[in-house]
Amino acid sequence: MKITILPGDGIGPEVCAQAVAVLEHVASAFGIDIESEEHLIGGAAISKTGSPFPPETEAACRGSDAVLLGAVGTPEFDHFLPEDRPEMGLLKLRKALGGFANLRPSAAVPALIDSSPLRREVFEGTDLLIVRELLGGLYFGGPRGFSDDKTEAFNTMRYSVAEVERVARVAFTAAQGRRKKLTSVDKANVLETSRLWRETVTRVGKDFPDVTLDHEFVDACAMHLVTNPTRFDVILTENLFGDILSDEAAVLTGSLGMLASATIGGDVDLYEPVHGSAPDIAGKNMANPLGAIASAAMLLRYTAKNDAAADAIEKAINWVLQKGHRTADIAGGSGTMVNTTSEMGAMIANRAVEFANVNNAFHAV
Ligand code: NAD
Repeated sequence: MKITILPGDGIGPEVCAQAVAVLEHVASAFGIDIESEEHLIGGAAISKTGSPFPPETEAACRGSDAVLLGAVGTPEFDHFLPEDRPEMGLLKLRKALGGFANLRPSAAVPALIDSSPLRREVFEGTDLLIVRELLGGLYFGGPRGFSDDKTEAFNTMRYSVAEVERVARVAFTAAQGRRKKLTSVDKANVLETSRLWRETVTRVGKDFPDVTLDHEFVDACAMHLVTNPTRFDVILTENLFGDILSDEAAVLTGSLGMLASATIGGDVDLYEPVHGSAPDIAGKNMANPLGAIASAAMLLRYTAKNDAAADAIEKAINWVLQKGHRTADIAGGSGTMVNTTSEMGAMIANRAVEFANVNNAFHAV
């Protein structure tokens, strides 16, 4: 499997280094052949080449099975025009890879439950995955613009059956590997696009009889995410609703540094932590690498299609937290050990390999 690594800026290279080390150790324990190559993106790419997404980076990404990204963005480029800034590298990367399904897991880690803004009894047991359609809907539909006198503005929410079908298949397939429940979120009482969405998802669902499908209006879903998040397994929704709901679900876990994401369905899969380049803590070996490491686990699950390898990493993350190890952002009160980025990475790599060996031994008997 060919992987392009794009460390990027700020804490990107620090968290990426740990994710790559964990990925390589676990892949080797499971006999997965990985060939990785590092390339420039964002501010680091502007400094060396003048472009936030140089042609050689694009060529390497297009020739890979997956891309693992750290983060982009540096304050030194804040005065640049939007099209020349590091963040443009990320937008160009996403467009080049063409992924239409964005997957963001959000789960209550037992050791960190009290970091959540929700009460323990509400949040405990939460384990959900949001599948957001990424290339359609209001953000891309035309016509869009301002009236000539600028007293009106308009956007168009547009979906085709094909666009809904392909993302629905990703969500149903993901649900099959989980608790087999899918909640499709729309606004079918008001919007025609949502009626088409609901009809199409219902029809695709017939191909997945083992998955229980229900439908929720987006306003009800937003409410249930904070009052009863354990009711959800996989949530499937369109672009705008998904943008909002996935951020709402993200804050439930209490720490941005923990969250992973995958964008799949295009020519090449993209994996990245949800956080940005965190210039305030860059270069201090104190960033939380768990979001990046969990993104590497998603790569093993969705691109390498090796659930056992992904499980080994996810179990190792939970084990390290359970043992009381924390980076500064999640250290909270007393009684916890504050570890560096590289210490956390090394502990997770070691533990994940142990879990991998136990798994391999189990399957050998
Ligand atoms: P940010 O996510 O970088 O940081 C927000 C806060 O969270 C900061 O206090 C930071 O220290 C903390 N934080 C973030 N990740 C952390 C981690 N892994 N461990 C510990 N603490 C962590 O968001 P921001 O400050 O709004 O943006 C900083 C730069 O990142 C900007 O240039 C922005 O454009 C860019 N950005 C990039 C991405 C991306 O690459 N996907 C996403 C968001 C923002």
